[in-house]
Amino acid sequence: MLWITLIVAAVVFLLVTLVVFRPALRRSCPTCHHDTHLERVKRPGYLKTLLFWLPNKAYRCYACNRNFLHIG
Ligand SMILES: [Zn+2]
Repeated sequence: MLWITLIVAAVVFLLVTLVVFRPALRRSCPTCHHDTHLERVKRPGYLKTLLFWLPNKAYRCYACNRNFLHIG
């Protein structure tokens, strides 16, 4: 039963990450493809804790007012 709970928590975590902080491999907005109106923002605590092994930075695009997660 514990394994099922852990798998469900991992899936929910991945879905929340994909919806709220859309991952992008390039340092440009995945929505509007601008790379000039970006600002680094703080990552949420759960991203810092669970993705400490992955080099990632959170950005906010001021052209479309959306957040994304730059991986790499
Ligand atoms: Zn944008």
